[in-house]
Amino acid sequence: MILTGKTISPGLARGITRVIDARGVLDAALSVAPSGPPQAEVERLHAAVGRAGVELDRLQRQLSGRLDAGDVAIFASHAGLLHDPKFLGRIEAEIRVGGQSAEAAVSRVASELRATFLANPVPLVRDKATDILDIGRRLVRCLSASLQPELEMEQGTIVVATSLTPSQLVRYSHHGIAGVVTETCGPKSHTAILARGLGIPLITGIAGACELIPQGTTAIVDAAAARVVFQLTDAERESFQDLFEQQAAALSDAEEAPPELPITQDGSHIRLLLNISDAVEAAGLDMLGADGVGLFRTEFAYMDREGWPTTDEIYASYRQLAEIVGDRELHIRLVDFGAEKCPPYSDIPLSRNPSLGLRGIRLLLQREDILLPQVQAITRLAHERRLTLLLPMLDTVDTLTATIDTLCRTIGCASREQFPFRLGAMIEVPSAALQVAEILPQVDSVSIGLNDLTQYLLAADRDDEFVERYHDPMQPAVLRLLQAVVATASAAGKPLTICGELAGDPKLTGLLLALGVRRLSVARSNYRGVANSIRRLSLRSMEGVGAEITAQPTAAAVRKYVAERFG
Ligand code: PEP
Ligand code: MG
Repeated sequence: MILTGKTISPGLARGITRVIDARGVLDAALSVAPSGPPQAEVERLHAAVGRAGVELDRLQRQLSGRLDAGDVAIFASHAGLLHDPKFLGRIEAEIRVGGQSAEAAVSRVASELRATFLANPVPLVRDKATDILDIGRRLVRCLSASLQPELEMEQGTIVVATSLTPSQLVRYSHHGIAGVVTETCGPKSHTAILARGLGIPLITGIAGACELIPQGTTAIVDAAAARVVFQLTDAERESFQDLFEQQAAALSDAEEAPPELPITQDGSHIRLLLNISDAVEAAGLDMLGADGVGLFRTEFAYMDREGWPTTDEIYASYRQLAEIVGDRELHIRLVDFGAEKCPPYSDIPLSRNPSLGLRGIRLLLQREDILLPQVQAITRLAHERRLTLLLPMLDTVDTLTATIDTLCRTIGCASREQFPFRLGAMIEVPSAALQVAEILPQVDSVSIGLNDLTQYLLAADRDDEFVERYHDPMQPAVLRLLQAVVATASAAGKPLTICGELAGDPKLTGLLLALGVRRLSVARSNYRGVANSIRRLSLRSMEGVGAEITAQPTAAAVRKYVAERFG
C-alpha cells in the first residue's frame, strides 16, 4: 500500500513502524499546573478548540475520496463533540471552579465522560467512549505539544505520528530511527530543520497516518517521491532493493568526491559555513571544504536529557565540537528556548502565543540559571580558541545593552571589549533589522535568521502549515529589508552571514550574492549544491541586479526574474 504526502527531509529508509500512541497524554495532562489565572486558561482552551477544529476539518477534506464516507464521518462527529457546549461547559467549570489548568480539566472531563459512555447499555452510546478519548488527546496536544509520551525506539524504526516536537525527534534520533511519517510538519519548523540536519528522511501531510499505517509492519519511507510504502508486494520489494543499492553507491561517491571550493567564476571566495544542531553534523567539515560552523543551534543538546546540564558538561561537549572544527570559524548561539523549542524537563512557561512569547535572549535575561552555565562554558572555550557567541532573537538596542551588562557581570569584565569571545547578534526580529546601524557598533558581526525574520515581518508562523504560503522570503518586503541590512553591515565593515533555509537553496544563491551577501551558513545536505551554484556565478556580472530584484512588486515576479537571470 502506498500513501503519498510531502517531502520535508530527503532520503530513503526502510524499517519497522512504530505508531506513536498518545495514550499517556491524558495521564500526563492531569499534573499540568495552571500557567495563569482561570480566565487565561479558558482562553487557552478556546484557542486549542479552534486549532483542533481546523485539524479535524482538514482531516475530513484530505480523507474524503481515500476512505469511504462512513470512516470520514467519524471526524465530522468528533468536530461536533468538540464544539458541544455541555462538554466545553464542564471543562470550563473545572478550570474556573476547580482551579485546574486547561490540560488537567480536559483530561478529567474526557475521562469522566468516557466512563459514563462505557457504562451505557446502548452500543451506539458506548462507541462514543473512544471518540471522547480521541478528542481529549487531540485537545491536550493542541494545548501543549510537550506532553507527548516519551518512548524508547529501536534502531531502524520508522516513526509514525500525528506530529513530532523537536525534542522528540532529537531523542529518537539518538536511538537510531531510520525515518519519520507525520500528519503535519511545517517545512521551516525546527523539527524539519533537525530532520534535514540529522539526515533522517521525513514525509508529512499524510492525514490519518496513525490510523492507516499498522504498528510493527515493514515500511519504506521514499522521501524523494514523498511516499510511504507498506505491506509491500514482491515487485515493490525488488524495485526498492535497486533504489537502496543506488543510494548506497551515490553516498560512497559523495564521500570520495573532492571538496567543492565556494569560489565564483571571477575568483571571489564566498564564505560557506554549516548550520548544525549536533556535533555529528560537523563531522567531515574538511572533506566538504566548509569554512566552519556558522550557526551552532545549541538548544537541541539540552533535549535528550533528564535535567539541566552543568557548566562542565556543556564545556565538554563544546570542546568536542571545537576539536572537529579545528581552526575554522565557530559561531555558538546561546540557547533559543521558548516557542516550540523547550527541553522536556524545563519549567519554561508555555506562552499563549509561543512565537511572540518569552523566547531567545529575552528569556535568558530572566533566567540566569540557564544563561550562566552556558556563558561560563563558552568563556572557558574562548580562552582556548577563537569563537563567536551569537545572541538569539535580539530585538532592540535596550535588550542588547542589558545583555552586554549581564555578560560583563557573568564573566567579570568591565566592558564588552574585554570579552574573550567575539559577540554576534542574530538579526531575526524586524525591529533589530531596522536598528542594525545602532546595533553594529556594539557587536563584532551579525547573522540574519531569515526563517524568523520572514515569520515576524510577514506575520506568518513558520511552524504552521496553514500559513505556509505566506511565509515566503521571496516577498519583496523581506528582500528589501535584507538588502538594507546587508548594505549597512557592509558600510560598517562588519561580517554578515545569512543563516536560515533560504541560504541553503542553490537556486537562490545568485539572488543572495546579487543582494551583496558574501557569507552563507547552510545545512550540511545543502552544502555541495550551494558551493556548485557559487562556482557557476560571477560577481562582476551582478552589477545592478540586486536593485532590479528588490524593485519587483511581488514574490512571483521575484521568482520569475531570478529564474530568468540565474536559470
Ligand atoms: C532563523 O530564524 O533563520 C535561524 C537561523 O534560527 P532558527 O531557525 O534556529 O530559529
Ligand atoms: Mg531563529
